[in-house]
Amino acid sequence: MDDFVQSKARKDIFRLKAYVPGKPIEEVKRELGLDSIIKLASNENPLGTSPLALAALQEGLNKIHLYPDANAYELKQELASFWQVPAEQIVVGNGSDELLLLLAQTFINPGDEVIHAEQTFSEYESTSTLMGAHSITIPLKEYKYDLKAILEAINTRTKIIYLCNPNNPTGTIVEQEEIELFMQQVPGEILVVFDEAYGEYVDNPAFGSGLQYLREGRNIVLLKTFSKIYGLAGLRIGYVITTPAIAAALDRVREPFNVNFAAQIAAQAALRDIDFVEKSRQLNLQGKDYLYQELARLGLDYVKTNTNFIFLDTGRDCQLVFRELLQRGVIIRTGDIFGYPTFIRLTIGTMEENRRFIKSLQEVLEVIPL
Ligand SMILES: *Cc1c(COP(=O)(O)O)cnc(C)c1O
Repeated sequence: MDDFVQSKARKDIFRLKAYVPGKPIEEVKRELGLDSIIKLASNENPLGTSPLALAALQEGLNKIHLYPDANAYELKQELASFWQVPAEQIVVGNGSDELLLLLAQTFINPGDEVIHAEQTFSEYESTSTLMGAHSITIPLKEYKYDLKAILEAINTRTKIIYLCNPNNPTGTIVEQEEIELFMQQVPGEILVVFDEAYGEYVDNPAFGSGLQYLREGRNIVLLKTFSKIYGLAGLRIGYVITTPAIAAALDRVREPFNVNFAAQIAAQAALRDIDFVEKSRQLNLQGKDYLYQELARLGLDYVKTNTNFIFLDTGRDCQLVFRELLQRGVIIRTGDIFGYPTFIRLTIGTMEENRRFIKSLQEVLEVIPL
């Protein structure tokens, strides 16, 4: 690092860890000269994008010389009726990543503390660290967020608690009953952020959304995205549902044109495409059953998932497994970045992709001895 940056840049930036994204298909093509590659690394929708969203995009292309609606009025109206909340409680962002950053920019003072799991989505730590907070990380318990330990970690410096529900990378949920107990005990002056990026995939009736606490007037933020089941990861669009006051505060901080026009019209159409969402859910359930069965046949342990990805234990160095799978044109995510050096995180794909993954994994397990 040169002296200029070292001495002039904000000190907090040196505490940031680099984000490790899923490896892009084109990069693997370039590096390995393979032409058939499947990416099961970033929990994207294997069915692609909603046909209604694609049609809306095509129709909207002749308007991209105009600035987008800075208030995303129409999209917010539709989201409001979808969730049965007033539109003034919604803020749309350039992916939920941007909304996490906005939350940190809006609420965190240097020296504040935030609490989240140790093995979870990395953006809670990076966005709050950037703003000068200190992350208190609580180990998962049986792959789940440990709400009791989180409560015990609260002190006067605690500003935000992040709950990734379901959790990435483990796919586990905290149940309605646990959330209820937690919300009874968490002090009202702490902001609780429920990241429900995978909420649409959950088929467990014990799951509890944070939405009801919003209806009770608690200071919470619900984080939602169009990147996963709605298949719009490349356009970058997500939203929060929160109190009117928090929404207004976030609106003061955000860039006026943070969400582009294409993302707004595509999201609106995708939200209406109930068939596509249902099809995606069904395909995911089918893939999950198949993969559970095959992993059991291969003698591998996995964490039961409530999402469109499975966290599984290969019993081997995950970096070796990653590289061998890559040689066979299969991109997955390694567990070491989350503190599980023998695990991998696999996105549930189309049935064809799932079968190809299993075939490749079987070969890899034979090449890498236990
Ligand atoms: C994928 C994901 C998101 C969504 O991020 P976007 O910026 O909306 O694409 C948010 N939270 C978690 C836990 C995720 O895995």
